[in-house]
Amino acid sequence: MKDDTLMDKIQSLAKRRGFIYQGSEIYGGLAGTWDYGPLGVALKNNIKESWRKKFISSRNDMYEVDAAILMNPKVWETSGHVSGFSDPLVECPKCKNRYREDQVEDSVKFPGKKQCLHCGEILGAARQFNMMFATKIGAVEDSAATVYLRPETAAGMFVNFKNIVDSFHPKLPFGMAQIGKAFRNEITPRDFVFRVREFEQMEIEYFVKPEEWAEHFASLKSRMLEWMEELGIDMQKVHELEVAPSDLAHYSKRTVDFEFDFPFGRKELYGLAYRTDFDLSSHSRGSSVELSYQDEESKSKIVPHVIEPSFGVDRSVLALLASVYAEEEKEGDVRSYLKFKPSIAPILCAVSPLLKNKPALVEKAQAVYGILKAEFGRVTWDDNGNIGKRYRRQDEIGTPWCIVIDFDTLGEENPDNKDTVTVRDRDTGAQSRVPIGGISAFIRSRLS
Ligand code: ATP
Repeated sequence: MKDDTLMDKIQSLAKRRGFIYQGSEIYGGLAGTWDYGPLGVALKNNIKESWRKKFISSRNDMYEVDAAILMNPKVWETSGHVSGFSDPLVECPKCKNRYREDQVEDSVKFPGKKQCLHCGEILGAARQFNMMFATKIGAVEDSAATVYLRPETAAGMFVNFKNIVDSFHPKLPFGMAQIGKAFRNEITPRDFVFRVREFEQMEIEYFVKPEEWAEHFASLKSRMLEWMEELGIDMQKVHELEVAPSDLAHYSKRTVDFEFDFPFGRKELYGLAYRTDFDLSSHSRGSSVELSYQDEESKSKIVPHVIEPSFGVDRSVLALLASVYAEEEKEGDVRSYLKFKPSIAPILCAVSPLLKNKPALVEKAQAVYGILKAEFGRVTWDDNGNIGKRYRRQDEIGTPWCIVIDFDTLGEENPDNKDTVTVRDRDTGAQSRVPIGGISAFIRSRLS
């Protein structure tokens, strides 16, 4: 089911509050590009850190790399991207608009044909359109110098397989992981940051003994689901799609897509694929460097098989925003808030003096702010407008707690409350008093 209203609300909030802006906006934008503002950067960083923790740093079988975006063009010839990384493109003969064929519905008026979404003309036959961005390297403008912006991060791991084996001598199974930018010349970028031309991926290549692939596939699948839940993605909206054998890529023996009910429909969020030994074997042939593994048990060389969990950072941001956006109506007044988990929220807490023109309050608030900022970093100072407005502003960006230093803190109203602060909860609006000495522990205990 489509929910255009939710999409509009998310997109306008993201822009207004500094999460995501249109790319090159003052020049009229550039289709398929978006710029992340401070809160978007913080959110993406928290997503990436949480992923790193779940899939890399909490384990001892994972090796993270950061390979160059520009790679030797032979990499993409070998992987099949030069000849086959394409989408079917259809063009309108009249207004010249272009579409991805599978994204245009069949015409009701002209059965078996597709019509231009812009002018209604019958669209021409589909042709394959390669989605890699090509550029030139070096000063010489000849075809030998053509390189591509990587369309996925995976290849950066396969080409470093031997380096990791030689440097670290890992035992099978082990994985390589990478977070980084990828570029695809999508025919029709659309749906905010869902389908863009420049995006970020988090990918894993998990190398296993061929006969053990099924068990590792199952355990990575569970781990992916666990992570989505930990991130705060609405699991009611996540669906596993077992890709039918007839639709599998030629190198894949099993693929599961994790789809999400985005406001514009159910679409792929992440993927998990068993890619056999296709990549290592192809790159062995393509580079003439043997990419194999000396198995100590059997004393023989094997080419490990690989399982690839693949995640998009930008789609994570969108799925998360669609999961946590909430509204509460009270007496005709609507409060909107983002129910981020504290570990993921761009800002963990806002510290405020109740009144900004009372030096005693400001001084105390600054002391509290200093303590929290030093420990948690993601802490903001907010003394703008009245307290109700501050709460609304922080709710809208998903800050879990507002900490207010008020006259009680100074012991002026109730001596029992001296040196305690008001902690106001984003989701319930409930307020409690917490001693200044215990405020760090209060937050820490809710972060795990
Ligand atoms: P789609 O079918 O939606 O085009 P895909 O199957 O081509 O996606 P993969 O090649 O499996 O996607 O890429 C792995 C992940 O990278 C996807 O699950 C998604 O999260 C992300 N991703 C891929 N293409 C884009 C894009 N154009 N914009 C944003 N994220 C993307």
